[in-house]
Amino acid sequence: MASDEVNEYDDERKNSTKMSSKINISERQRQTLIEVVEDICGEEVKQVTLVLLNSEEETTDEEISEKLDMRLNQVRKSLYKLYDLQLATFRRIRDKSTGWFVYFWILHPERIDFLVEKKQNEVLSKLKSRLEYEDSNMFFTCSNHECPRVIFQNAMDSNFICEKCGERLEAFDNEQLKTILNTKIVELEEIKKKTAQIVNKT
Ligand SMILES: [Zn+2]
Repeated sequence: MASDEVNEYDDERKNSTKMSSKINISERQRQTLIEVVEDICGEEVKQVTLVLLNSEEETTDEEISEKLDMRLNQVRKSLYKLYDLQLATFRRIRDKSTGWFVYFWILHPERIDFLVEKKQNEVLSKLKSRLEYEDSNMFFTCSNHECPRVIFQNAMDSNFICEKCGERLEAFDNEQLKTILNTKIVELEEIKKKTAQIVNKT
């Protein structure tokens, strides 16, 4: 992380008293948070998340390192991953006696709902643009499965000869692929609707 990026999180009060980190979340949010973090970032980040989640107040990287018996570098890496996901933030205080910065970390478990929604929208948008690409192109392929599929313009440019193996290019029917994409889009939209209902209930 760039040092100027850190500056905006400097605590103006220069207060080294820890602030409370208690945020009420539902059991469903807690479970989702743990599952998503493990899924995206792996076991170590999950362990760090659990320490923050169970802490009543802000926690320093050193405290987490001691609690988990995990190397400080590893803890910091995990914390920055949570920071990138916007699930954790920090403030830093210069320790008057040592001159070093101390980082106080806090988890924002309630943000998991936004993260899940964001991820769903990303996947959905990818699926939709893929379907549009399949819809708006004609494809050609040779009989070798290792050779790439080409769009009409490229097939014409190569006189309908596969540029990789030299075989003839034939029209490729992508109806089945489009059906699969369509099904996935409908399924994900269903899941999105259900997720939104669950989120609004809590
Ligand atoms: Zn080929």
